[in-house]
Order: sequence, then structure tokens, then C-alpha cells
Amino acid sequence: EYGPAPEDSAIVRDWLACHEAGFGHFIDGGFTKPSDPFEVTNPATGKVIARVSQGAATDVDAAVKAARAAQPKWAALSGHDRARHLYALARHIQQHARFLAVLETIDNGKPIRESRDIDIPLVIRHFYHHAGWAEIMADEFPGATPHGVCGQVIPWNFPLLMLAWKVAPALAAGNSVVLKPAEYTPLTALALAEIAREAGLPKGVLNIVTGDGETGALITGHDGIDKVAFTGSTEVGRLIRRQIAGSGKALTLELGGKSPFIVFADADLDAAVEGVVDSIWFNQGQVCCAGSRILVAESVAARFTELLSRRMETLITGDPLEKSTDIGAIVHPVQLARIRSLVERGRAEGAQIHQGSAPSGCFYPPTFVTEVEPASTLATEEVFGPVVTLTPFRTPEDAVALANNTRYGLAGSVWSENINLAIDIAAKIKAGVIWINSANLFDAGAGFGGYRESGFGREGGREGMSAYLRHPAPRAKKPETAP
Ligand code: NAD
Repeated sequence: EYGPAPEDSAIVRDWLACHEAGFGHFIDGGFTKPSDPFEVTNPATGKVIARVSQGAATDVDAAVKAARAAQPKWAALSGHDRARHLYALARHIQQHARFLAVLETIDNGKPIRESRDIDIPLVIRHFYHHAGWAEIMADEFPGATPHGVCGQVIPWNFPLLMLAWKVAPALAAGNSVVLKPAEYTPLTALALAEIAREAGLPKGVLNIVTGDGETGALITGHDGIDKVAFTGSTEVGRLIRRQIAGSGKALTLELGGKSPFIVFADADLDAAVEGVVDSIWFNQGQVCCAGSRILVAESVAARFTELLSRRMETLITGDPLEKSTDIGAIVHPVQLARIRSLVERGRAEGAQIHQGSAPSGCFYPPTFVTEVEPASTLATEEVFGPVVTLTPFRTPEDAVALANNTRYGLAGSVWSENINLAIDIAAKIKAGVIWINSANLFDAGAGFGGYRESGFGREGGREGMSAYLRHPAPRAKKPETAP
């Protein structure tokens, strides 16, 4: 039923069978009785794979209460002891890596190659990295203290990785957590809760409450939450900002994007085409920092388009559990309908649509789009699917102007064999992250985040760690005294 990788699939099947009665929330180190269940489906097959509870106000209250009770003791541990817990958690995740990869793939639809080689290894790396931060935090941020209880709400595109980005630094800093995974993809968060218990994480330090946006709003709006960290759409980010205004809660928002991918005439065009594959056809294009707007120098535009078209034809869209699959299933039929409707709007506005192939079901073919007007739907709206626009430019100044012609500012990618030009252009693009001759590279040691409508605050690196701490007010300078 779950395709190849039979032993790993069997473990996942057994695990899901054990939870056939449904999943409760993970609160204070244990699972509650399942209540008010909703169905979770495998988007590649359309089959229901689990039933998960819709978190009500009483569940959120209980989770926040457990987190509040556990936090002072957790923060009072030495940095070294918190690090030992995080190292243990990282090691246990590592032991369950293959199980988690298959579970992520059947819950989200992403190719097994990506969940096994990218998502889960990065999750592990994130916990190891932040264990290191727990050790050195007191020296690096003298006088800083944890916020207290963090309310964290995450999206469905990298379910366990987004959890790791939020939970690892929060715990390293001495906070406790109430986290809600996205309603389409709650399963790896619940599996991680079991793994955390197995790894001996003290109870109440990490609490997982499942449910939809209503549950999310109950968490972000709860009086017992000191810091809110949200990753998701710009619309919901705006709602949360309004909801907590004046509450004194700390806030970081990681939102949408429409990132430029700029190819200069002197770029290695074959490498740049591979960059596009990694940038927009990775994870079905459901990537906040996806390079969804290719800007290519006019003199090489025809050649680049031909190379891109040829490469697109070779991509295999289909069963996410097949090791040869490049593009898996779209996370949910609702998201598929959204992608289709945006592309159809683009077509009606005069854009030329070029597509590879995809099977029927919850799949969308790799797509690139030419003849796109700068103000049109496909040039401005985040599609969150494997769809990229291609627009020629004349001069580097044109490229920068086109790149910055967006309300977002999350990421960008610049391709040129002239490193001086690439660095010069990178500095002129208004985005939080710029890659040169590469795309979608993530590391726990590097801050990630955007500005403008892409949100604010950083995750990863020193800045990300700093965001989970309250810093002492800078000391007032001593008044100058006359000698
Ligand atoms: P979404 O905003 O609909 O949902 C995200 C999460 O918020 C889900 O868990 C959802 O249940 C919850 N939620 C919904 N309404 C809420 C409310 N009123 N209060 C509190 N929580 C609420 O986004 P999505 O469709 O799951 O994810 C796609 C979006 O996420 C895209 O726009 C993408 O660009 C963005 N994203 C950004 C980053 C980043 O790091 N910047 C990373 C991944 C995804």
C-alpha cells in the first residue's frame, strides 16, 4: 500500500494501526483521550490514514497550564543539562529517521527522497545545533532570560522541519512550548511527542495540541503565552498581529514570498537550470522561499528557456514513495484547486503556460510561464505550487527593479560567473536571504527570515536564538564627569 521501502512502510503501518482509535493531544508528557476527531489523508492516494483531535479551549488551557508549571524548572537547569536533553532528543530522532521520513511522505505527499535526505536530516541537525546553543547561551547572551511559554503555530509544507525550527531554539533558551501543527499534516509532530517522551524530555516542557486555525487562534491569543512564533500565510500573520497587539507578547512571523531567481548572461546555464529544479520544483513548489520568478538576461533567454523546457520534460511526477519521483503529491485537494485557479487566471490574462506531465489525482505538473505582465496574477501572487514565471531583462538595473517589484522580501537567488556582479546585485535585492549560484540552502547556523510582507524576526543562527530570549535593557552610560 505504501509502495517501496517495505520495512519502513511496515513500521509506519503498525504505528498507525496502534493509533486506530485516534490521536489525542500531547499534554504534560502524555496523550489525552481522542476527542472531536478530524480525518488526516494521504494526498497521494486520497485514503484516510489517521484521526486526530480538534483542540478546544479546555485543551489549550491544559497545555498552557502544563507548560507554565514545567518552565521554571526547565529554565533553572544548567545550560549543560538542557543541552543533554536536546542531544538525547536529536539522537532518538536519528534512530527513528526512516520511520519519520515515510510518515512525513504519506502525510504531506513530498517525495521520499526529499523527506529522507533533506527534511529529517535537517530536523536532526537543528536539534544538535541548538543543544550547542544551550551550552554556550549564558556566555553569548549575558543576562538574557527565556520568555516563558512559547505558543507556536506552523504550516504543512515542512511539517517536522518547521517544528524543529521552532521547538529547538525555544527549548534551548529555557522556554516551554505549546505547538500546533497544521491540520493537513499533524502526524510527525505527534510521533515526535512520543519520541520526546522516550528520550526523557521532562513532562510539560513540550506540548502538542492539534486542530485547525481556531485552535491556533486559541493558542496565540491565550493569556498564558509569553511569546508567539508563527509560520504560515501573510493573511493569518496579519490576523495574529492584530490579535495580540498591546498584549506585551513577543512575536516573530515567517510568512509568504515571491522570490526572484536572477540569471545573468554569463551564468552557467546548465547549473542555473538545476537551480530552478531545486528552487521551485522541490517540495512541489510549496516552499515559502521558492524562486517563483525567474528573471533571465534577454541575450540568453531563448537558450535558457529551451534548456529549462527540456529539463522539465525529464521530471517524474507521481507516487511520493517511489525513490525515482521528483515531484510528489500536492498537500491537499484545496491547495491543488488554488494552484489550478491561479494558473487559469494567468492564462486568461494572456500568459503562455508550459507544462510537464502529471498523473491524475492530487498532482500538479511542473510548470513554467512566459509572457507574464509584471502586474499580472502569476507575477505577483504566491502560488505555492510547482509554477514559475520567466521574464527577460535587459540590464542589471532592470533585473534589480523587477526583483524588488513585490510586496514580499523573503529570499532571492543570483546566477553569474562574475562574483563581483553577483555580490553587488545580491546587496541590492530587498530580501532576508540571498543565495549566489545556489538556491534553497538551509542551515541551522544561519538566520532565515524576511521583511515587508514576508514577516519579521529570524529563525536559525544567532539571531534566531536571540529571538527566544528576553534581553536586559542596555545599561545607561555613565554621565561624563569633568576631570
Ligand atoms: P496558513 O496561514 O493557512 O496556516 C498556517 C498555520 O496557521 C496552520 O497551522 C493553521 O491551522 C494556523 N492558523 C490558521 N488560521 C489561524 C489563526 N487565525 N490564528 C492562529 N493560527 C491559525 O498557511 P498554510 O497554508 O498552512 O501555509 C502556507 C503559507 O505559509 C504560505 O504562504 C507560505 O509562504 C508560508 N510559509 C512561510 C514560511 C517562512 O518561513 N517564511 C515557511 C513555510 C510556509
